[in-house]
Amino acid sequence: MHFLKPLFNLIFPQNCYICKKTLRADETHLCANCLRKLVLNIGPFCPKCSRHVYKEDLICPECNTRKSYLTKTLACFIYTDIFKAILINMKYYNNPFLLKPLLPFIKRFCIEHFSRIDIDIITFVPLHWHKLFFREFDQAFLIAENISKILNIPILPLLFKERSTDSQHLLSKKEREQNLQNTFNIIPGSNIDKKTILLIDDVFTTGNTINECAKILKRKGAKEVYGFTLARGI
Ligand SMILES: [Zn+2]
Ligand SMILES: [Zn+2]
Repeated sequence: MHFLKPLFNLIFPQNCYICKKTLRADETHLCANCLRKLVLNIGPFCPKCSRHVYKEDLICPECNTRKSYLTKTLACFIYTDIFKAILINMKYYNNPFLLKPLLPFIKRFCIEHFSRIDIDIITFVPLHWHKLFFREFDQAFLIAENISKILNIPILPLLFKERSTDSQHLLSKKEREQNLQNTFNIIPGSNIDKKTILLIDDVFTTGNTINECAKILKRKGAKEVYGFTLARGI
């Protein structure tokens, strides 16, 4: 009933979730002005953390000092104030539909960077069941589900979180890394032997979480693990 939308918007005007401006008939959830403020992550990328570097496949100094279990990790957006506002609205105010206006950008990015890789399975960084219970939806799963449709690759939950790591922000960098160890595990019965996996999360900050999940997948037999996050810090 797409043709009824302009009429519906005329009778019940909708507002942009971020700036609260009244939306035009061709805008959904977010106005064009807010969408224009989003900053796409432009390559060349460090293959381990998706930071912008001056030459393709150059490993940045930070990634040179730590072990990565991912073949390549890429992020579509830069974690700017506008992105943060959208993510907070999506995650903490239970508005999963805010992913929809971002999908054309995600589609273009994923087709450009992942369509030539032979990926067998798409999976995602899991939330602890306790968090899922209160949040009603899992944003990493939601992103993964959409990428599965874009790339036409099956999505499979492969990991679960054994314990909650809520107090992570109170810890030092070293403690944070240690705290994540033994947090995730593979779902019993998952067969990932010699499989190439695309692992999805919402934001890449230190990279510890996605790396820890990739470590488990590699230890359980995965051939290669690629990573995709919606955004990364500057
Ligand atoms: Zn707006
Ligand atoms: Zn890097």
